[in-house]
Amino acid sequence: MGKTVLIVEDEQAIVEILKYNLQKEGYETLEALDGETGLQLAREQDPDLMLLDLMLPKMSGFDVCSTLRSEGSAIPILMLTAREEEADKVLGLESGADDYIVKPFSMRELMARVGAVLKRNGKKSTVLSYQYKELEIRPDSRTASISGKELILAPKEFDLLLELAKNPGTVMRRDKLLQDVWGYSYCGDGRTVDTHVKSVRDRLGPYRSMIQTVWGVGYKFDPDAVIR
Ligand code: CA
Repeated sequence: MGKTVLIVEDEQAIVEILKYNLQKEGYETLEALDGETGLQLAREQDPDLMLLDLMLPKMSGFDVCSTLRSEGSAIPILMLTAREEEADKVLGLESGADDYIVKPFSMRELMARVGAVLKRNGKKSTVLSYQYKELEIRPDSRTASISGKELILAPKEFDLLLELAKNPGTVMRRDKLLQDVWGYSYCGDGRTVDTHVKSVRDRLGPYRSMIQTVWGVGYKFDPDAVIR
């Protein structure tokens, strides 16, 4: 079962984009639009991580966090703040947040923080990894390795490899990959995908043929491809 992330945020648009990105990475999500509901869900549902906005109706993120800590809850909390200056307070002892991220943040940065906080706190440590022959891809730590040797991958290269490897045997269209890896707002074209596929293949070395070109359409991850 995937890990559950509780989103406590009063801006519906931010909730939606967080939900979309978290679910895409395999997390289950819960949401609350105010502090009181967030606190209640944290107590009742015991999520693996809480994304907690600081400025919330009914009860501030700061109070939600310190209340949970005073009750002995060790739930990892990643605080969303609007200003860098709030960081000291957020990370202060009386609040007890594990980390913070300043708005506006990129989804890539947020997902990396989520992964890092969960890794540090490995409560329900069901590590999800994709293993194909000697190739192992770990979404939680955002690393890929061959025979235990870590591959050097740029963030988008990793995302692309993960997206392909999640869907073995499925033809992934270029436009779908662009959308899933680069996001809806990205103004690139199919060539962006092609150049990244080329560099991922270079990194894969002997396993390069696992990423197969489907002419005129896109790419397919084939774990059984012949190693040349
Ligand atoms: Ca807010």
